[in-house]
Amino acid sequence: MAQKNYLDLKAEVWDTGKCSGCGACVAVCPADAISFKEGEMVTSPVSNGYCKQATDNVRCGACYAMCPRTGDARPAETLGNSIELACAKAAFDIPHKQSGGAVTAILASALDEGLIDAVVTVTEDRFTLKPSSVIITKSDVLIQQAGSRYSWWVPLLAALKNAVVERKFRRIAVVGVPCAVQALARIRTSDNDLLKPYANSIRLVIGLFCTETFDYTSLIRGKLRTHYKLEPHEIRKLDVKGKLEIQKNDGSVTNVPLAELETCIRKGCHICTDLTALDADISAGSVGSPSGTTTLIIRTKTGKAFVDAAVRQQKLTTTPGADTAAIEKLATAKIRKNSKT
Ligand SMILES: Cc1cc2nc3c(=O)[nH]c(=O)nc-3n(C[C@H](O)[C@H](O)[C@H](O)COP(=O)(O)OP(=O)(O)OC[C@H]3O[C@@H](n4cnc5c(N)ncnc54)[C@H](O)[C@@H]3O)c2cc1C
Ligand code: SF4
Ligand code: SF4
Repeated sequence: MAQKNYLDLKAEVWDTGKCSGCGACVAVCPADAISFKEGEMVTSPVSNGYCKQATDNVRCGACYAMCPRTGDARPAETLGNSIELACAKAAFDIPHKQSGGAVTAILASALDEGLIDAVVTVTEDRFTLKPSSVIITKSDVLIQQAGSRYSWWVPLLAALKNAVVERKFRRIAVVGVPCAVQALARIRTSDNDLLKPYANSIRLVIGLFCTETFDYTSLIRGKLRTHYKLEPHEIRKLDVKGKLEIQKNDGSVTNVPLAELETCIRKGCHICTDLTALDADISAGSVGSPSGTTTLIIRTKTGKAFVDAAVRQQKLTTTPGADTAAIEKLATAKIRKNSKT
């Protein structure tokens, strides 16, 4: 039987507004036929019309196989499985850290110890705040790029192809929001041969808690510039805490009610019910921990080994436990909100 191909993906995901924008299909298409165009509220990728399967009848189906929005939706859960929960923070200074800097500390330690060769993640231009999908191989670059990108339109996983196929890294860590983590889980468990090189190269997946993401152009160039007279270079840090908190370089803070930002939320986020990145090796968020620390849900033995290595290297400190009620409350609110749509 022919594998499902990009035409099925287009009909089921792109044209129905379900695409999360994770970029997995862009990464794995062996013909490089799928891409994202730049612009405001780009909701899904496009194809150049060529497809190994559909055009030449050569077995493929890679894009369909790893899309997190094809087939049955992942069952909604709040906390998911875990080996351990902890409040953690970096044991060294990370100026741009989002919460406790634990994610950066774990990855920097892994790079320095040679446990991984590269990190696939999302960084931003600090002047324009424009995000991009990158491969980082040095801990000092990773430390410089700490912090969360909420205005995220970039297909994060698009950089995976470059990491696996062109640069041939075989020990990769990926940091991603839950939809990207779900795509990686599909890669890791798929029986599609074209996905094996990716599956064999991903050593660690760190998932970031996520309620929603905002379209870069709509939020930064639209709402904040037009209504709040804020230029991106004036912004030091964005944080979502029941509202969008904007810390400026001059020390002042502007709060924007989330209700005002509904039109900036990416369309595919409206059907997402995963707050805590249920399929990651380690999930990280701010809710559930005191300010200045990161909540870690350590889900797998692999995740535990990386956390332990960072603690051993004195790059990370951890305190057992986290406020699970607070995490469950936020996760349940997300499930309720997005199950309705
Ligand atoms: C879009 C988004 C929404 C979030 N929503 C919530 C929330 O509602 N509640 C909550 O508790 N936590 C949320 N988080 C997680 C939180 O903001 C922190 O990322 C988390 O607490 C880890 O903090 P840290 O200081 O350990 O990370 P840091 O040490 O600062 O490291 C963060 C790492 O994540 C990478 N990164 C940043 N943005 C992205 C991105 N968009 N995709 C992939 N990698 C990225 C960076 O490159 C860096 O390596 C969200 C994060 C994001 C990106
Ligand atoms: S959800 Fe990800 S894999 Fe699926 S169509 Fe969108 S970008 Fe591609
Ligand atoms: S809310 Fe869901 S779909 Fe949207 S970016 Fe976060 S994980 Fe992806």
